[in-house]
Amino acid sequence: MPDPTDSGRRRVAYVLPVYDEADGLAAFHAALVEATAQRPDLDYEFVYVDDGSRDESLERLLGLRADDPRVTVLSLSRNFGHQLAVTAGLDLVAEEGLADAVVVMDTDLQDPPRVSLEMIAMWERGVDVVYGQRRTRRDTFFKRTTAFAFYWTLSRLASIEIPRNVGDFRLMDRQVVAEVARYREHGRFLRGIVAHVGFRQEALLFDRDERRAGESGYPLRKMLSFAGHGILGFSTAPLRLISRLGIAISLLSVLMALYVVYVRVFQPDQTVPGWAFLAVGMFMLGGIQLIMMGVIGMYLGRVYIEAQDRPLYSLALVARDGPVPSGPSTPAPRRPRDLTDTDRGAPR
Ligand code: UDP
Ligand code: MG
Repeated sequence: MPDPTDSGRRRVAYVLPVYDEADGLAAFHAALVEATAQRPDLDYEFVYVDDGSRDESLERLLGLRADDPRVTVLSLSRNFGHQLAVTAGLDLVAEEGLADAVVVMDTDLQDPPRVSLEMIAMWERGVDVVYGQRRTRRDTFFKRTTAFAFYWTLSRLASIEIPRNVGDFRLMDRQVVAEVARYREHGRFLRGIVAHVGFRQEALLFDRDERRAGESGYPLRKMLSFAGHGILGFSTAPLRLISRLGIAISLLSVLMALYVVYVRVFQPDQTVPGWAFLAVGMFMLGGIQLIMMGVIGMYLGRVYIEAQDRPLYSLALVARDGPVPSGPSTPAPRRPRDLTDTDRGAPR
């Protein structure tokens, strides 16, 4: 939510990951500048993050910076992947308090810059996170079906609700950015983290365009690992599956035992000596082993959750007198000056 009491102009930062986009960058920046020019009452910061591009993207970005002082360029030492490139940009904005709101968008013109202005308008009406939801997607049949399967699995397994057909195109209030910056997990699934953080989140439907120049930086291998992060990062359901399976097999072994006894008593001529013992024992042992693995799974799940070391909670508001305690991991957000006994967004 924009702070209505803040004097001065509101600042919006764009975090823009770039990987081998040299051919399209100039057109992208021109479109972005043109779109943002519709709202001259805001100050803009364009944070481009070069994710170890192999082409001339970095030179082009430095060229953009030479012409436009609002451009900041970060360059990662190698290709770390889209999620980490965006994280690097968000970290910079959060650390330096560069903006009141941050827009994350792709630099291949698939996320149209003019849509970000609609996001800004929604933010000004009090929405903390505006996520771009694809009304249509002009992707291949393969991409559409895999995406559908992924979102379906995710929504069944994940411990929180992660909206469907939503990429990383979104606007976040600085309060949300400060919270996201506290999530330091390595296997990052940013849209899940943003959903996990909470606050007032709303969708904005838009039509996703086709990529203008260059190629998708998401080959199947990267897509699969990304889907893995999404599911494993927000669910320990696969671990719990083990013990369910174990219980099912153990129950089956009881039925099996009954059947074996039945055969032994009523059709003794059909049984091989020792068969009953072996058959029942096999199922019983299998079931017990799986249950025990499930027990290990439950502890492992807990260890995993602890290892992720996520914030326990995020505060949206603190209404009290006196100073608000702030956690050690993040700098406290700047306090609004004119709210008498109300403070917003102090972590921990
Ligand atoms: N990107 C990145 N690092 C990568 C791959 C992609 O920073 O390793 C950037 C890319 O420049 C683009 C955005 O992330 O701005 C989305 O990537 P892409 O368009 O390739 O993904 P798709 O739209 O095909 O899912
Ligand atoms: Mg793209």
